Amino acid sequence: QDRKSYDRTYAIVDLGRIVENLRLCKEKLRKGMAVCAVVKMDAYGHGIVEVAKAIADECAMFGVATVEEAITLRKAGIEGDILILGVIPESQYALLYEYRIMPSLFTLKQLKKLEELGKKNNTNLAVHIALDTGMGRIGIQTEEKGALKIAEQILASPHIEVKGIFSHFASCDEQDKSYARKQEQRFKNYLEKLKERGFTIPLCHIANSAGILEDIGTEYNMVRDGIVLYGVYPSKEVLHELPIKMALSWKAKISHIKTVPAGEGISYGSTFVTEKEMKIATIPVGYGDGYPRILSGKATVLVSGKKCPILGRVCMDQFMVDITGVEAELFQEVTLLGEEGGEEISLYDWEELGVFPYEFLCGLGNRVPRVYY
Ligand code: PLP
Repeated sequence: QDRKSYDRTYAIVDLGRIVENLRLCKEKLRKGMAVCAVVKMDAYGHGIVEVAKAIADECAMFGVATVEEAITLRKAGIEGDILILGVIPESQYALLYEYRIMPSLFTLKQLKKLEELGKKNNTNLAVHIALDTGMGRIGIQTEEKGALKIAEQILASPHIEVKGIFSHFASCDEQDKSYARKQEQRFKNYLEKLKERGFTIPLCHIANSAGILEDIGTEYNMVRDGIVLYGVYPSKEVLHELPIKMALSWKAKISHIKTVPAGEGISYGSTFVTEKEMKIATIPVGYGDGYPRILSGKATVLVSGKKCPILGRVCMDQFMVDITGVEAELFQEVTLLGEEGGEEISLYDWEELGVFPYEFLCGLGNRVPRVYY
């Protein structure tokens, strides 16, 4: 970040809010419940190292998507358990041992390769078994013939230490919970069958943020907490009962102010044409920074605490807002997302305009420096 300027734009990440959001989840959950903090994709754009350090004492492990993310955590001095929630290429298997990273395991091909490595290096690898109970993405397909055999072979392997078993909900964030209940039942049945065969697995987990909020899949001993950590509800359809607070806000500084007569086009395609004389501010941020282009002509920006509408299309690095009648100066700081002067632009406002909150957070570019509180 050394050479980055904060004078164009920056995002504020309130780490205290992330810690508090995690505590709120833990208070809601059964006492002693382990939490896997999902910090993949740079902690949903909040900064994986800063976030992980802030909550390291409060969570049982970290959930990431790639080996690179796990190594970033190790190199930053994070010593706790790290679970990779997706599939990694065989070429990276050796790194799992080197950096003590747990993969998600679910095929005999993966098992064979890891056994070879384990034998060769005379070491064991801790893993979690992934079950596909209806997400249709990765995992042992629990309803298929021979599904139990795969887990049994993994569990019986001398070179593999199964520390956990998990599945993932496809639609727990929807109002209709019947599919989530079906997945939960499949998960339970599969675990019961393993138990009947004498296998006990330390950690079982299926609930994501929606599961935590709706108390579905929370009878096991771990949950995976993602978006709620960052203070954002996974959807409009889940219970909004926890007083979580969004950790991220976004500021920019006005780069130009001008008065435009009636009849002038603003931005690409001249989709907006002034009907009267207007005062217009240029904001030096665009979709190249992750500002959603879908907000063109729809969203507002807080200038001097007032909601000022975007005029015309959002460009790659700039867009324009109507500040007619608003006191504003060149280089004044404005709020793209978050609170200012008692007003707020929330991610839920953007959601109404077609932005998928998860996607926005992940897409907030590294051209936007993060400032930590
Ligand atoms: N678990 C898995 C396997 C995931 O892929 C994700 C996120 O995509 C999560 C947990 C966290 O989900 P959420 O952010 O909805 O809590």
